[in-house]
Amino acid sequence: MVQLRTLNDIDITGKTLLYRVDLNVPMVHGKVADATRISRLVPTIQEMVKRRAKIVMLSHFGRPNGVFTREMSLAPITNALSEALGNKPIYFALDCMGPAVEEAVVHLKPGEILLLENLRFHPGEEKNDPDFVRRLAKLGDIYVNDTFSCSHREHASIVGLATVLPSIAGRLLQSEIEQMDALLSTPELPMGAIIGGAKISTKLSLLHMLIKKVQVLVVGGAMANTFLKAKGLPIGTSLYEADRIGEAKDILGQAEKQRCKVVLPLDVVTSPVLESGASCKVGPVSNVDASHMILDIGPRTVQHIATMLEPCKTIVWNGPLGAFEYRPFDVGTMSVARCLADTTWLGQRVTVAGGGDVVAALGLSGLVESFTYISTAGGAFLEWLEQGSLPGIKVLEISHK
Ligand code: ADP
Ligand code: MG
Repeated sequence: MVQLRTLNDIDITGKTLLYRVDLNVPMVHGKVADATRISRLVPTIQEMVKRRAKIVMLSHFGRPNGVFTREMSLAPITNALSEALGNKPIYFALDCMGPAVEEAVVHLKPGEILLLENLRFHPGEEKNDPDFVRRLAKLGDIYVNDTFSCSHREHASIVGLATVLPSIAGRLLQSEIEQMDALLSTPELPMGAIIGGAKISTKLSLLHMLIKKVQVLVVGGAMANTFLKAKGLPIGTSLYEADRIGEAKDILGQAEKQRCKVVLPLDVVTSPVLESGASCKVGPVSNVDASHMILDIGPRTVQHIATMLEPCKTIVWNGPLGAFEYRPFDVGTMSVARCLADTTWLGQRVTVAGGGDVVAALGLSGLVESFTYISTAGGAFLEWLEQGSLPGIKVLEISHK
């Protein structure tokens, strides 16, 4: 069980907190389109305000590659943040360090909030540059990390600050880690995993780990195409990774040795084009047209997945099983989601889903509430599954300092 230092372990009254959050919210025409990420921070912020801390918020936004980029400014987020906190004023600094920022921090009173500009406008952030860390650290007394989704990154504001300042986890991070740890560190067996999505190369090490850990591994999405190709099946014009065929074969061979059952599509939905409402065909994997691409798993596969996963007491899911953004290629993902949701609801098993796209798909299905736990983190969720911890979490563990 991971034990983190938290807000319970430190007196924050009158102290300046460097509070690292993830404000990478979806924006449309300069306005926050979905404030879910912001609203999840509210309990931590309210507690820190109530305990009379001075709050300096740090975040990155997008990938500006170390230079100021107007479209990636955090300035437009102050309004949404203020709204989420019952119209509390949020001060904004035009940079994340330097004399003007230091001045603003000095004038901050207990219970007030200052949001600093995008950390990634400085190359030192992603490089975890010691000088950048030192200049950031100068602004505060205590470092608080409240972003699971960024904790796999060895960046200045994730790992750097935690090593030079007294550091703790915020309530959101704390609860995410506690829940995932409770559900997955000693999972009830048998365990199953569903891995879909676009590219096998990004999830290879995860697959290698999973075949050792789970008893049933379902592979869907475009990832499955590389496996089907490795088995000598025709996949038409489907998306696949030619340079990963050897590794796909290797995974299948090792899974057999580990007695992990790998479930690949039996039938698929194909189409000559990837667009909503495209004419499509359903057929066995042995019979894919040369001019078609595989865009979803078929109904027999959905049934087969349900049967194979039936004994599993714990199931983790990452990556959609088809090109769910285009109807009707969402049907496979939605059907499997429905099946998991029903059995979870009946208390028969624990289901944990994580990843940007699979969570977006579950959101569309309206089934989010029926899963035991959903993590919106993508890369961090995968790395946590694989390693059981993350660089930004390790430095907050009680045993670390
Ligand atoms: P996650 O964010 O859940 O980890 P990924 O980012 O790995 O998932 O992959 C999601 C993408 O995979 C989606 O954009 C989806 O359209 C695409 N995808 C899934 N199956 C297919 C397929 N058969 N052909 C093309 N794209 C697919
Ligand atoms: Mg994704």
